[in-house]
Amino acid sequence: MASETEKTRALLQACSTESIVCSIGLGIFCLVADRLLQLPLIQQSDWLRALSDNAVHGMIGMWSWAIITGVKKKTDFGEVILAGFLASVIDIDHFFLARSLSLKAALTLPRRPFLHCSTMIPIMVLTLKFTMYLLKVRDSWCFLPWMLFVSWTSHHIRDAIRHGLWICPFGKTSPLPFWLYVMTTSSLPHICSLGMYVTGTRQLISSTQGTLINV
Ligand SMILES: [Zn+2]
Repeated sequence: MASETEKTRALLQACSTESIVCSIGLGIFCLVADRLLQLPLIQQSDWLRALSDNAVHGMIGMWSWAIITGVKKKTDFGEVILAGFLASVIDIDHFFLARSLSLKAALTLPRRPFLHCSTMIPIMVLTLKFTMYLLKVRDSWCFLPWMLFVSWTSHHIRDAIRHGLWICPFGKTSPLPFWLYVMTTSSLPHICSLGMYVTGTRQLISSTQGTLINV
């Protein structure tokens, strides 16, 4: 168990100037990346558009998790890459729904594919957490449900600027304003950090000692 001092230090790290500067950087990245994707050079090719769009999802997932961990030790890089993978991999459901590897078929679906339903996020996060509890997965993996939450939420929020949030079975919202997407995406890592702290599942590295703290 972490001492109160360690807990306070962990909480301060989650709200540190460094992490706030990094999330402002994330907001600027969102602004720039989505403007660059509008360039005719990218828009004229389906493959280039799809790959660059997916890469931006991955980058946002990686950046968000890097803000949460602070990337203080080697294994954090592995986590950051995993977060990017989770943020990108959702789009594979386009191909499942199309029942084809054809990009044209995946981009012209009659409805949105199932992983793009935002109700899936809490369902999948809680299912993962419960499964990890049943399988007695080591404590060092307790970040995984939170990583899934951040990666998928960031993907859904970004997609929502074009399609709105699909909250099945209740329907969908109007497309999100661009500023709301940027603000939500850049504050999501802090919301997640605080959530991890409050629920007692947060693992942090002490910024001064370099030791693992289970809060
Ligand atoms: Zn998507």
